[in-house]
Amino acid sequence: MDPFKLVREEVARTIRTLYKIGYVLDHEGNVSARSRVADRYVITPSQIPRFEIKARDTLVVNGVGDVIKGSRNPSVETGMHLLIYSKRPDVNAVIHFHSVHATALASLHETIPPFLEELIPFLGENIPTVKYAMAGTEELASNVADGLMQRNAVLLANHGAVVCGKDLKDAFHKALLLEKASTIFLLAKAVGSPISLPESAVEIGRELFRTMML
Ligand SMILES: [Zn+2]
Repeated sequence: MDPFKLVREEVARTIRTLYKIGYVLDHEGNVSARSRVADRYVITPSQIPRFEIKARDTLVVNGVGDVIKGSRNPSVETGMHLLIYSKRPDVNAVIHFHSVHATALASLHETIPPFLEELIPFLGENIPTVKYAMAGTEELASNVADGLMQRNAVLLANHGAVVCGKDLKDAFHKALLLEKASTIFLLAKAVGSPISLPESAVEIGRELFRTMML
């Protein structure tokens, strides 16, 4: 039996779902997962409309990005996904997307502060915008991977967002949580100044984040 079958199906299903909920348009965004086979990762292809991607269109790559299985071209952000996996052995899934409110904050180079209890255990104490670099570059990969050392989500300046999780379901939940928090933060900022949680509550969240890791 093909050891990559299920994970390729799940990667394809996740990018189609991101398209359906408006987090990516035709050729935007990318999704990957670490497979159970050592040094093998499954990633979405470039150039194919997101709503059309099937399991057979996904690529199996090794840790340096060589294509092991699949006939399409792997995502231009493959290097970024692989760098995250190498720096975060606890991460098994990565999602990059361009949802509207998270990207609005990324265009402002904002940092989402610890202003909602549910954010800290799952995403981390804050979600900063990492320094701008062109899509597909090693510089962007490095900025994003560095940002994810302390948290499970970052905003990409003038671009979008990246989340990581223990599996694809978990990473997808984190994408939803980030977009929800971004929407609330923007709405609150439109009429005032969102207030961070008291330090005692932030500390509890921090502790939960440390224990859960992801
Ligand atoms: Zn992008």
